[in-house]
Amino acid sequence: DALFSKLVRHIAVVGAGYVGGPTAAVIALHNPHIRVDVLDKDPRRVRRWNSPHLPIYEPGLVDIVRVSRDGASARLRDASVADTPVDRIPNLFFTTDSQTSLAKADVVMLAVNTPTKTFGVGGGRATNMTTFDAAAKEVALYARPGTIIVEKSTVPCGTAQRVRKMLDEVRPGVPFEIVSNPEFLSEGTAVRNLMQPDRVLIGSDKTPSGRRAAEALANVYAAWVPRPRILEVNAWSSELAKLVSNAMLAQRISSINSISAICDKTGADIDEIAKSAGIDPRIGSQFLKAGLGFGGSCFRKDISSLTYLAESLGLPEVAHYWSQVNSMNEWQRDRFAYKIIRRLEENLVGKKVALLGFAFKKNTGDTRESLAVDVIRVLLQERPGEIAIFDPCCLSEDIIRELEPILDSATRERVHVYSDAYQACQQAHAVVVINDSDPFRQSPAKQRNSNVDGGTRTYYEPSPHVHAVSEDIVIEGSRFSYLPG
Ligand code: NAD
Repeated sequence: DALFSKLVRHIAVVGAGYVGGPTAAVIALHNPHIRVDVLDKDPRRVRRWNSPHLPIYEPGLVDIVRVSRDGASARLRDASVADTPVDRIPNLFFTTDSQTSLAKADVVMLAVNTPTKTFGVGGGRATNMTTFDAAAKEVALYARPGTIIVEKSTVPCGTAQRVRKMLDEVRPGVPFEIVSNPEFLSEGTAVRNLMQPDRVLIGSDKTPSGRRAAEALANVYAAWVPRPRILEVNAWSSELAKLVSNAMLAQRISSINSISAICDKTGADIDEIAKSAGIDPRIGSQFLKAGLGFGGSCFRKDISSLTYLAESLGLPEVAHYWSQVNSMNEWQRDRFAYKIIRRLEENLVGKKVALLGFAFKKNTGDTRESLAVDVIRVLLQERPGEIAIFDPCCLSEDIIRELEPILDSATRERVHVYSDAYQACQQAHAVVVINDSDPFRQSPAKQRNSNVDGGTRTYYEPSPHVHAVSEDIVIEGSRFSYLPG
């Protein structure tokens, strides 16, 4: 019975991505006595985690990785870790050798990707659990008895129960505990979110051994998170609470965007309305920025999970309510694309349209569920001469991969990714700013325009009341909206 109440000495994090990497780094930083192995099956990703050039960009991440991975003496900027001992023995390791690590770990955190899958004639959506299930099976095969298995990935409700069954089948009679511990970080602020989390949610089945497993994990977080912020709940609450957080954030975006459509048809200004609503403390001002809607790998998928859950529980009204949040989001993007077409006199043939920003939100290189893809899909139907893309935060191979599903032999040659904003905008008939990454705050398009001869230039704001602005108006990134995943 004392199996799960042990002191944690060794953690294996499966999946060295946007969640697994930063989470492992912060746990290792604050628990110098715990060895943290981060496992990934992608050797290229692991190599980059072991190099000075990490595979993901997050402010402050390099500093904390250096401390735990290299034992570096780093001066940490974040006040909350000012007391962290420096000159330490390395305790953070990135590797592809999962078997060795799984066989030694007290705690295994599953932080693998759980993308959206589309199914059926109507294009229904749900979470694709293939990768997660494969990783869970691997853990079942190699972990030692008494291992605490942690769901860090965002998963459909009931996954903890399902994983338990899977473990019983693969290793009958071997004791494992499954604990849900969803992650609430946002890309772009991951280190800050992990260092000072609003809450840490730990869900167990509330049996005595389940509670002890939850407590063992809580002790890991208690190294830096104040106890009142660590909430121990049941596994269903924990899994559902994560979906609800994302659904409610996304719902605010779709709500304000629905109002922006009314503004478009009247004299009302959506920014004035958002300001007025947000100033009321009962409403609050965050996530009330109208724009292209939400992208990223999380919101749409998690709302689909919630919708699917409601349907399977025989609650069609609830399913319909939440599915509208996704529908509104898709409509908003189409609406934006058609506005660009209208501003170009419904004729894109032979014209060049430049898109600044491709990542799903500002200051990240993550291209998953990019808002730009839907806009480009609609624009390509109008046979433009060229779609020119520039986003200094993204790798061009990631941009091409995201676009691949909407391209065919005729359109492929008309889409180009540029590494220079001025070249992307040169001779463009329209410049569309998709996200407000810092580099676009001072519109490079505008600067270039004054040097380029010929051609009519039109600037578009991707706010819902898109309008052409005269050349002396700088495109302001702060007017746009895109959201964390
Ligand atoms: P990611 O794609 O960046 O990283 C997942 C990694 O897991 C990849 O590097 C992949 O190679 C690796 N992997 C897959 N199967 C593996 C296996 N069997 N063994 C070893 N490695 C394996 O994904 P992410 O953005 O970090 O998301 C992970 C989970 O966290 C998802 O469920 C997501 O919904 C959730 N989440 C993401 C965010 C976010 O902002 N990205 C925030 C909160 C929660």
